[in-house]
Parts: sequence; C-alpha cells; structure tokens
Amino acid sequence: MAYDRIYLSPPHMSGDEQQFISEAFRTNWIAPLGNNVDQFEKEISTYVDSDCSLALSSGTAAIHLALRLLNIERNDIVLCSALTFIASANPILYEGAIPVFIDSEPETWNMSPRALERAIEHYRRIGVLPKAVIVVNLYGQSADYNEILEICCRYGVPIIEDAAESLGSMYHGKKSGTFGKFGVFSFNGNKIITTSGGGMLVSDDHDLIEKGRFLSTQARDKALHYEHSQIGYNYRLSNVLAGIGRGQLLHIEERVRKRREIFKKYKHALGSIEGIAFMPEPEHSRSNRWLTAILLDPSVLSTTPIELIDGMENFNIEARPIWKPLHLQPIFKNNHYFPHEEEQSVSAHLFNTGLCLPSGSSLTPVDQDRIIAAIKDVLSKKILK
Ligand SMILES: *Cc1c(COP(=O)(O)O)cnc(C)c1O
Repeated sequence: MAYDRIYLSPPHMSGDEQQFISEAFRTNWIAPLGNNVDQFEKEISTYVDSDCSLALSSGTAAIHLALRLLNIERNDIVLCSALTFIASANPILYEGAIPVFIDSEPETWNMSPRALERAIEHYRRIGVLPKAVIVVNLYGQSADYNEILEICCRYGVPIIEDAAESLGSMYHGKKSGTFGKFGVFSFNGNKIITTSGGGMLVSDDHDLIEKGRFLSTQARDKALHYEHSQIGYNYRLSNVLAGIGRGQLLHIEERVRKRREIFKKYKHALGSIEGIAFMPEPEHSRSNRWLTAILLDPSVLSTTPIELIDGMENFNIEARPIWKPLHLQPIFKNNHYFPHEEEQSVSAHLFNTGLCLPSGSSLTPVDQDRIIAAIKDVLSKKILK
C-alpha cells in the first residue's frame, strides 16, 4: 500500500498517562484497585458533575450492573434504543429479561419520544409496565431528554443513559451521562478517551453505587471467611488501567474540540455535494462528534454506503456503516420493535443510507484531506443518477 492506513477512531495517547501508570508501579498498587481507581472515579464525577462514580472493567459491565441495581429480573420488559451497538442490549439478556426496541427520531437519530410513549402505553395497557429504558446517545449526540424524561417520569420508569459514546457532550448545558438514574461511560480503545478497556457507572444515588461496588467485587458479605448471599461479578477496573484513564481525562476538552473540528472540515468540504447530509446537532446540545456520520441520498447519488466504504478501502482508509439496528439483528428477530411512525422506521433508513468517516482526534489535516479526496474520487466514478 502506498499510504499508511487511516483508522476510524484509534486510541490517542497524550503522554500524560505514563506518570499515573508509573505511580501504580512505584507504590506496587498493580492490584487490587488503588489510588488511580479512587482518583479516576472522583475526576469523572467532577467532570460530569455526578455525585458518585464506580470504575468498571467495561461499559457493558456498567450497563449490566445498572440493570441489576434496578432489580431487573427474568421476563421483565426493558426498552432499549434500536440504533446502537449490541453492548447496549446484551446485558438485558444476561438477566433473562426481554428487550423491546425503540426507533430513532430524525432530529437526533436517538430514541424517538413518540415511539417510546407508544411502547410504554402498549405495555401499561396489557399490565406489564417496562422496568427500565436504556437510552443511547449515538455517536456523541445526546438524546432529547426533556421529552424522554417527561414520559418516563409520568410512567415511573427509570432511565439508564448509555453515554458510552458521548463523554464530553452536553444537553441544555448539562453533561451527557447525568440525565438518567444511571449513566454509563466506556473507555474502550475506540472511544473519545480510553483505558484500553474500561467503563464507569455514574449516579447521584450513593447507596445504589455502593451496592454496585459490592456486586462488582464478587458480592462478599462482611465476614473474614468469604461469605456470599448474592450473585456477584469480577467487574472492577485495574489500577494500572485507571492510570491511563486519568492521563486521558486531562485532555477530554481538547479531544472534543478536535473531533468537532474534524466534523466541521468534513461538512465544509462535502456539505455542498448534492445528496450528502450530515448527522444533525439540534440547538441546545453539544455533540462530542465522536464519529462523523453522513447519509447518501439514493434518489440523488448512485453510490451506496457499502460502495463508498469499499472504495475508501482501496485508498487504505477505514469507514464503517451506521450500526445495524438491533431489531434487524438475527439474535433479536423475535423481539418487538416500535417504529417512529407506524409506517416509518427511521433507524432502518439511517442504516441503509449512512456511514461513519474516520474521526479520531489524532487525525492530521493532511490525512483528512486524503480522506476527502478519496470520497470525492469514489463518488465521481458514479456521479448523479
Ligand atoms: C462501546 C459501547 C458500549 C460498550 O462499551 P464497552 O466498554 O466496549 O463494553 C456500549 N454502548 C455503546 C453505545 C457503545 O458504543
């Protein structure tokens, strides 16, 4: 290959991680837990302004614990955004509960309040009120919590906010991850900051976070001899990895700024091409623009998202389709789905017409020019219909 590969969203180290890792080695707090874990929890709480945080081994573990802490049990109904990564919904299956998927709205690409209300009303009428709603903030864009909270409060259904992709984003001046009973962040390698692998559960409910701490360390009752009366997990974050997170978190605002600049440059370069549209950012919200997502209008452009992704691959550039909605996944083929309108499935349309462009904060202007040139080249081969 003539060019180095450009990845979708690779890890971006700042150089400040090493000092915290070294501290773990110097003090021999390699395990279990230690000062980096304690401080990382405090620093996340301070940054997002939540009362309590619990550092965990993954975002998936955080979602699972949130469900446990809300006492989700076998055959309970849990509503979940359809347009998301499978990790949002897998923990529902871990508990033997039943996921029901809610479509997106066009304005945010996130959970449609209209479909949510129809779903809750449907289950209320048949006497099985959903036990929780998992609301995803897709690609860094916040869902519309004014409407979603109003509906969920009215019916008394708690929200788990899957903010795995939206650390640093805002909605009406408040940080993403702080709108539900629980918020979940991921520090997987592709996220806006990383610990190589890790997650965080945040909440203002001190007692529930402490119970989560207990469950995440094998649910050991108070006794010297290892006494257990509940199912527990080995879900805590390593003190070495928490050190990486501390070094990363120092730079979160720069990372958000950089990803937003990358979005802006794509929009400037490609926004005037007829048939290309960008993921919207409603007023009163600030997306961290974790990934820049675009739509190709098939009535204008003859290039499909898959063709564009394949074409970019020939330039050694990684692009990806929009998440395949969960109600279309084989594993969930028997699960219920509530579309935005009876005849309009927004998430399926976004999946069929959209793709994500390389958006890592370490992307150089030269690399981004290369991506833009590649996109224009691929599109020009099959121009207008
Ligand atoms: C990455 C991601 C997760 C899972 O996080 P892990 O840390 O990889 O377990 C959950 N939900 C969404 C929307 C994600 O993008």
